[in-house]
Amino acid sequence: MSVDGLCQVCQSARAETSCDRCGNLVCEDHVDRDLGICTECAVELGEGTGSRGVEERDHPDVDGFQF
Ligand SMILES: [Zn+2]
Ligand SMILES: [Zn+2]
Repeated sequence: MSVDGLCQVCQSARAETSCDRCGNLVCEDHVDRDLGICTECAVELGEGTGSRGVEERDHPDVDGFQF
């Protein structure tokens, strides 16, 4: 599958594929091959939306030591 155009991320390299998520044309350097999406989407997914709601921390396994 060939794609015509420049990478939408770096705007310099030739795009080799398109992001499955946002449809951006991206070069090999800016695609996450594991996810099939561009690096920008990968960052978004990795960091969530950037907005933190309620931060819950439940780790009941911390006090699990018994003899
Ligand atoms: Zn690029
Ligand atoms: Zn994308």
